[in-house]
Amino acid sequence: MCGIIGIQNNSEAAMLAYMGLYAQQHRGQEGAGIVSTDGNKLYRHMGQGVVADVFSDSNIFDGLYGESAIGHVRYSTTGDSDKKNVGPLTFNMGNYSLSIAHNGNLVNIENIRKELQEEGALFQTSTDTEIIIHLIARAKGKTLVEKVERVLLSIEGAYSLLLLSPDEIIAARDPYGIRPFCMGKLDNTIVFASETCALDLLGAEYLRDIKPGEMIVTNDDGFYSKMISKPKQSKHCIFEYIYFSRPDSKIFGKSVDKMRRAFGRKLAQEEPAPTGDIVISVPDSSNTCALGYASESGIKHEIGLIRNHYVGRTFIFPSQRLRDLSVRLKFNTVKGVINNKEVIIIDDSIVRGTTLKKLTKLIRESGAKKVHVRISSPPVRFPCFYGMDFPTKEELVAGKNSIDKIAENIKVDSLGYLSLNGTVESTSQELEEYCTACFSGDYPVSIEDKNDKKVSKVPSCS
Ligand code: AMP
Repeated sequence: MCGIIGIQNNSEAAMLAYMGLYAQQHRGQEGAGIVSTDGNKLYRHMGQGVVADVFSDSNIFDGLYGESAIGHVRYSTTGDSDKKNVGPLTFNMGNYSLSIAHNGNLVNIENIRKELQEEGALFQTSTDTEIIIHLIARAKGKTLVEKVERVLLSIEGAYSLLLLSPDEIIAARDPYGIRPFCMGKLDNTIVFASETCALDLLGAEYLRDIKPGEMIVTNDDGFYSKMISKPKQSKHCIFEYIYFSRPDSKIFGKSVDKMRRAFGRKLAQEEPAPTGDIVISVPDSSNTCALGYASESGIKHEIGLIRNHYVGRTFIFPSQRLRDLSVRLKFNTVKGVINNKEVIIIDDSIVRGTTLKKLTKLIRESGAKKVHVRISSPPVRFPCFYGMDFPTKEELVAGKNSIDKIAENIKVDSLGYLSLNGTVESTSQELEEYCTACFSGDYPVSIEDKNDKKVSKVPSCS
């Protein structure tokens, strides 16, 4: 997963892009970068780590000239975290340079990559994003826009894309609209962002989402839009609502906060805990959902777990004792809140099951009489090929275990998940509108080999 930002027509373009990346830091902490242009050349700064580390020196902005810029934060994947894969990627196309920022994962790219390599293409990175650039370089067309149009018709998967050339920014979204992508306006400046929280930070007015299958070209004269693919049934990633996006964002036309409260209320209706004195959330992604659960059940909401926000990536500790302690780097309990209580913990999802196993142990050690866990989404049973960093089916705890078995494994008194119908109903939309592949195995864009997560292990810029 990734976050992207584009700024067209502003004398502080790179600085605004930086702020837009800050707002979207939750979408990727592995690397960050900005590319700007003054209409002649592209200027790039990028690095591994969070935005604050990569742009720790304000002098960096002295080299990011121009009135247009795109930026990218890269999600920490299990794959290749090489610096050269950090976006936006920049390429020399002969008589001009081109930069690209991509959120999503392309699928079925192995054959394209092989063909390109056989034709002599030399890849600088191991990302799927670079394939788009090679295709553009080879595409027929008099202008960059014509070439991009052709390429968009030949790629499959999830993409919210920003391309920056010295003359324009081109924004494009896949025909299913799998990942969020919006557009805003700040006086005469056009802003593109993965999430509206970036527009809010910049003081930009939300104009609209980029439509699935749409391409928008912005330059000094303004912007125009063109539908590249025939509209398809949208397949928005429902997991963006459940976990990934910020609650203060509006994605796919709806407030994430509202969705999460509705998931919490529905969860309380569908899976009421048999007993419980307090409802607590696993911060931060489950906070809003816990409010929904508490209001529906009438059980008191408490802040029982505290998250340390300064913990980045930790190394794998050498002994089991240290590994067991490591959960405390990120979370601690408020003992006075938990001691002697029957606790209902709300979490958004269980992936491998490691976090909750450690947390429930911690909560019991803090004196909880009973621990009930309620999850505001269905069991994650299938890998995601469109950009969410889920492991293989074998590694997903619900991929091979029943709910009872998971409850036993994470040692809880009871475990309940929101149903798929309940999840969708809470959004007041229809099931067809969403990609629910991680829950149902129903992949909207067919995958070469559904059992082989290798196809998506190609480190993407997502
Ligand atoms: P796990 O310990 O593997 O079960 O991780 C579950 C926790 O990770 C949940 O509390 C989620 O908030 C969070 N989570 C859910 N999906 C993802 C994801 N794709 N990448 C990283 N963390 C996630």
